[in-house]
Amino acid sequence: MKTLIVGGGIAGVALACGLAGQGHDVTVIERELAIHGSGLGFWPYLASSLKQLGVYDEVHASGHLAERVLMCDRNGNVVTENVREDGTRLHTELVIARPTLIRLLREIATDRGAKYLQPVTYIRLENSPTGVRAQLSDGTNDTFDLVVAADGANSEIRTNFINSVSKPMPGAPGFFRALIPHDETLLPVAHVFEGSRKLVFIYPTGSGKAYAGLYVSDPEPHMDQEETTQRGLELLEEFNSPQVDHLRKIVSEDSSMFTYRRVTTHLVPAPWYRDRIVLIGDAAHTMPPNVSGGASMAIEDAAALSESVRRNPQIDEALADFMSARFDRVESVVRYAGEVLSLGPMLNSFAANSPVHDEMIESLLGQVPAGEPPRV
Ligand SMILES: Cc1cc2nc3c(=O)[nH]c(=O)nc-3n(C[C@H](O)[C@H](O)[C@H](O)COP(=O)(O)OP(=O)(O)OC[C@H]3O[C@@H](n4cnc5c(N)ncnc54)[C@H](O)[C@@H]3O)c2cc1C
Repeated sequence: MKTLIVGGGIAGVALACGLAGQGHDVTVIERELAIHGSGLGFWPYLASSLKQLGVYDEVHASGHLAERVLMCDRNGNVVTENVREDGTRLHTELVIARPTLIRLLREIATDRGAKYLQPVTYIRLENSPTGVRAQLSDGTNDTFDLVVAADGANSEIRTNFINSVSKPMPGAPGFFRALIPHDETLLPVAHVFEGSRKLVFIYPTGSGKAYAGLYVSDPEPHMDQEETTQRGLELLEEFNSPQVDHLRKIVSEDSSMFTYRRVTTHLVPAPWYRDRIVLIGDAAHTMPPNVSGGASMAIEDAAALSESVRRNPQIDEALADFMSARFDRVESVVRYAGEVLSLGPMLNSFAANSPVHDEMIESLLGQVPAGEPPRV
């Protein structure tokens, strides 16, 4: 099968690993040269998809398993370890820098034979029940059996080929995020600092960088880069600890450090495909990152689509199989993420004694109850 994957983000490179691993002819096109982004945290339930894609060991070796998380007050006094004040134990996350993960998966995919073209986009796609004719910006004209739109939340392919009205709208909360140099003395383990309607988290990522974020319950209006830095520094003023001082110093010295994004919740109605074009990852769904999140769902999509293709030599049957494997699962994660968010400003957790907690543990993360073996 000859596949064109549009978008070399998490979903695109993960799928390239899966399909190229099965011996398919895979081309990934990515329009940007730089790899943006800060950190990602994966809950244990992602293990099976990483294993299915054959990348589990490599991803594990490139990230940091956050087995200890110190929960602190705004002045840096440790309140609990791995346990929120309400008694809920945190799921152990594998934390990894987004650029590290993308480079790693890209390398694995190309080792398995995938082509990765960058900076390249498509000029024209002609979809039909038998294939997609594609004209690419590097001059290539070719026909593909399948085109996968892994082109992110603002997917143009979604709008032009699958669903012209469904799109994510910015919601709450908002996150200021940065990938900062990791000072191991100051930050031997992950720290979370709780302020008023906001949290600061700083997690080692295992690659010499730390993933730092400021979660704000009340979303900020649109800001340019200078305003983002200024507003982020202002909001950090309420925190007072060596770790947050370190973050503040880095952000004030490098005004490109902090990015700001509001969380979006979005699910494209089924089906996510038409003829030979299919959406995966953020192009199909976005959600708050409080039950692992969109990158986990993107990797699950990639594993599921690879598996559907392996089981079904007919592409239309593979796409129908993929859809039935994914829609209900993603719908439930999006719904839970929204419900968890409504319980308050939380990170990697949710209130004990809530019906949401029990239902989620059972149906979504059933195989990995909170507090159990911490292997992602
Ligand atoms: C604040 C915040 C925190 C998050 N934290 C987590 C977390 O802890 N855990 C987690 O699992 N998820 C998290 N997420 C979500 C996660 O970042 C996304 O779900 C994930 O990056 C989606 O991957 P993707 O490949 O679908 O899209 P993207 O990563 O957006 O990649 C899309 C790629 O397509 C390329 N592209 C677009 N159009 C074209 C085109 N026409 N031609 C060629 N290339 C194109 C883009 O340049 C980009 O590289 C978080 C998100 C936010 C906002």
